[in-house]
Parts: sequence; structure tokens; C-alpha cells
Amino acid sequence: MVYDFHTHTLLSDGEFSPIELIRRALVNNYGAIALTDHAATGELPRIIKETAEACALARSHWNILAIPGIELTHVPAHAIAEASKKAKELGAWIVVVHGETIVEPVEKGTNLAALRSPHVDILAHPGLLSLEEAKLAATNGIFLEISARKGHCLTNGHVASLAQRVGAKLLLNSDAHSAHDLLTMSLADGIAHGAGLDDTACRQVLSLNPQALINSLPS
Ligand SMILES: [Zn+2]
Ligand SMILES: [Zn+2]
Repeated sequence: MVYDFHTHTLLSDGEFSPIELIRRALVNNYGAIALTDHAATGELPRIIKETAEACALARSHWNILAIPGIELTHVPAHAIAEASKKAKELGAWIVVVHGETIVEPVEKGTNLAALRSPHVDILAHPGLLSLEEAKLAATNGIFLEISARKGHCLTNGHVASLAQRVGAKLLLNSDAHSAHDLLTMSLADGIAHGAGLDDTACRQVLSLNPQALINSLPS
């Protein structure tokens, strides 16, 4: 069963409507999918409302856990704590922060701000994460992301190795923007092994950590 906590729809820059992306995930053997469109603060109410409605519709008729979320993207580092709190108040079950990937000019300090925010669940594509940041992720129980997305995936090995060194929890997400970006179990397994994880760590990242995250959700 595939779990994926970071995807995009046409509510930001993805290809499909929320309900169509969920439908395509379902036929791709997903057990759970979080819809996490890009937002700063102005778009939060609109995107979370529309996402939550589509997820509720899918959950009530189909056998898939559709999770309303958001990806705080290029939010100034000092505004991340407040924005993540607001996102949760508006009904997001999962808050992802668009971390310091090496392929975009994300503000320095974004990783640290995310890892210090109690309402953040996942730091996406953290790029050249520092040891201090990895330790903070471990202490605060925030998931670090192994990314299937081109560009963002270039530092997967670094992120996996630091996370394992300090006991931080990892998740593997597609960051899908269209249907062909969605994961299969074999692709996820290949990406996790490619980041340097052994069989035991892969099981942790692809099954146990997702189940732990699901068990912590508000529903
Ligand atoms: Zn991102
Ligand atoms: Zn994304």
C-alpha cells in the first residue's frame, strides 16, 4: 500500500482537480494521500476549504484516506510559526513546509523555522540540512522528507544519512504535480534504497512512519 503526504492540484500548480488526483491515487493502489497545495497566508482559507471538501467527499465514498493539507511555500521564515498555526485552525490536518531545496532560492532559516513550529508536520525537501536541524527534527518529532521530485531529490542521500545518524523520522513523498508523478510501491522502494536506506529502514520509512503519522491525525 502506497502512502504519500505531499501532492499538488490545480488549486496551486498541479494538473488535476483535488477529486481527480484522489481518484487517480486510488486506482494507483494508494492507501492514503495528502493534498498539500502551495500557499503563503492569503490563499490559506480558500485552498484549505476546497481541499477539505474534496477529501471529505472522497473519504465518504471511496476506500482511501484523503487528507487535507497545505505546503507553506516561500513564506518568510519568521512568519512560518504563525502561518502553520493558522493553517491548522482553518482545518488542515497536515502542514508541510517547502524546505531549503538546492534548486530554488528558499529563504535561509526556513528549515529552522519549520522545525521549531509545533504545527508543522513535515519539512519537505530540506536540501543541505545541517546537523543542528536534523537533531531538532528528531527532538520535535517532525518528519524529514525523501523526495521523488526531480531537483529536490538531489540531496536525498544527505538527508537520509543525517536523519539516521540522529534518529530523525523520514517519510518518502512524491510531490506529485500530475498523474505520472504518483508513486508505486516499487518506485518508492527504489528511491528509498537509492537514498542509502537498508531494508529495515525502508520498511520504517514506507510503512511504519506513515502509519504513525496517520494515527496522529485529527479525524
Ligand atoms: Zn515544495
Ligand atoms: Zn510540493
